[in-house]
Amino acid sequence: MAPDAERTGVAASPGIAIGPAYVVRRERLIIPEYRISEAHVSSEIERLEAAFQETRKGLAEIRSGMEATGLLGNIFDAQFLFLEDPTLREQTARRIREEHLNAEWALQRELNRLEALFESIGDPYIRERRTDIGFVVRRVLQALMGREPRGLRGMPEGVIVVADNLAPADVAQVKAGQVAGFVTEAGSRTSHVAIMARSLEIPAVVGIGAGLVEQVPDGAQLSVDGRTGELWIEPPPEVLEEFEQRRRQFLLLARHLLRYADLPAETRDGVRVFLHANIGVREEVPDCLRYGAEGIGLYRTEFLFMNRAALPDEEEQFQAYREILEAVAPRSVVIRTLDLGGDKLPSHVALRGEANPAMGMRGIRLSQRRCEVFRIQLRAMLRASAYGRLRVLLPMVSSLEEFDFGRDELDAVRQELDRRGVLMGDEVELGVMVETPAAAMIAELLARRADFLSIGTNDLLQYTLAVDRGNEHVAYLYEPLHPGHLRLIERICQAGRRAGVAVGMCGEMANDPLHCWILLALGIGELSMAPSSIPLIKKIIRESTVEEARELYAEVLDLGSAEEIRKVAANALSRRFPVEFEQIVPKG
Ligand code: PEP
Ligand code: MG
Repeated sequence: MAPDAERTGVAASPGIAIGPAYVVRRERLIIPEYRISEAHVSSEIERLEAAFQETRKGLAEIRSGMEATGLLGNIFDAQFLFLEDPTLREQTARRIREEHLNAEWALQRELNRLEALFESIGDPYIRERRTDIGFVVRRVLQALMGREPRGLRGMPEGVIVVADNLAPADVAQVKAGQVAGFVTEAGSRTSHVAIMARSLEIPAVVGIGAGLVEQVPDGAQLSVDGRTGELWIEPPPEVLEEFEQRRRQFLLLARHLLRYADLPAETRDGVRVFLHANIGVREEVPDCLRYGAEGIGLYRTEFLFMNRAALPDEEEQFQAYREILEAVAPRSVVIRTLDLGGDKLPSHVALRGEANPAMGMRGIRLSQRRCEVFRIQLRAMLRASAYGRLRVLLPMVSSLEEFDFGRDELDAVRQELDRRGVLMGDEVELGVMVETPAAAMIAELLARRADFLSIGTNDLLQYTLAVDRGNEHVAYLYEPLHPGHLRLIERICQAGRRAGVAVGMCGEMANDPLHCWILLALGIGELSMAPSSIPLIKKIIRESTVEEARELYAEVLDLGSAEEIRKVAANALSRRFPVEFEQIVPKG
């Protein structure tokens, strides 16, 4: 093991990078602040409009060099929405008109206001979008001040990019195979640079902290481990050698794991588990198939509704759902109805100003309140069901009445479409997410009504432990192996077994190899996870027996803390899978 790294950050995209640093030093923009006279108001607003225009043109040029679709394109396009959003321009123009501020100052003020607004949002993914607005506004400010934005175009091959932060527009200029790694001062696992790096399969460490850009000279030799978050600057020969070895092992293992993609996840003692993929946008489907997903276990439809001025209509939704169902057929697709609400995103459908949005008007509650939006979505889904195997999933259910509401609406929409002679699949299942403690406690009642149960541990855990899933101050308490959480999961599994309905898990807990044996012991038949996690989990399942998983579970059942359970599980699994646990499983 190498001695402590010089800097450590958040392990954002696995893999080892070794190479020279390409340091992106951004010029500090000093924003001119002055008042203008009434006579200059209209020319100042014109100057603002022209700067927006120029920014749009510049970004469109970068976009035209990218593939039209794909997750990267999708992320990139979100920037245009900020540019197109009239509120940003109108509010800035209003400040020019009413407060007589120059355009740069007015825009900077507007940015401060928006950033403060985003900062107060609970969901970490949405909160990160604050940085995107910052990137876009910076480009407009550069245009106003006549500065050229400095991107990554023209950088040499094989470098490790070091920056304070990277915008989607920066990363979009990177071609696969051109950059060896990314290291940034800011960012988290949900920042765009992290998401894009994982999608491009480029190792990345983010959130290293201030001062990195000054510390690293251009061209300095770096070693980066995207699994442990380590960064070495001009490493001594023994460290370099160790990183070379880590890199060889990582690549070998990744290649080796891909061989499991198309094999069934069946334990040595003959228990079959189905491994599905979680997706947020349709562009992720090819990756799901490449990594061997046997279906889509969770399609979060919220992304269709995000970052836009108007709701997607029935036709747009139908096309999106149909495309996914067709691409995945004959495998099944779980489409979750809209889980918008307070902390998920500020949108036209959700309510604003709730003091405690995670416990407010979200998921099925919002669908009840905004029934017309829910019906449009169900109509689009049922129409799409003619093209594949659809399973509908209801989020945030905490009572039988809420489930019954979903069932009644689905039946009513089906009858309406039937009357109109619309083609539909005739075996559409309706499932329920078990992600509130109340739903877990009445799981046996829900299981008599639903066609399947899907355990959403991300929320179940936050509500069970009273630990906000997006709050870094209590992140150390957010522990899926908490004995209270495990007992609830056990209860849900028993309820499913007794009623004879399938029980799956689509929360992040299913993603972590450390939990694999416990979930096997509990008898969960479907695990849905990030596509790239599938080969490793398949390998572990194929090389395990349910018997040894049950032995482990019996051993941890009476332990009183998550920490003890984690230790015992880590011991057992890393003894059986030493290479995988040493090289792939995220540290910490
Ligand atoms: C969950 O809560 O576990 C889940 C899968 O849903 P989301 O993360 O979208 O809330
Ligand atoms: Mg949830």
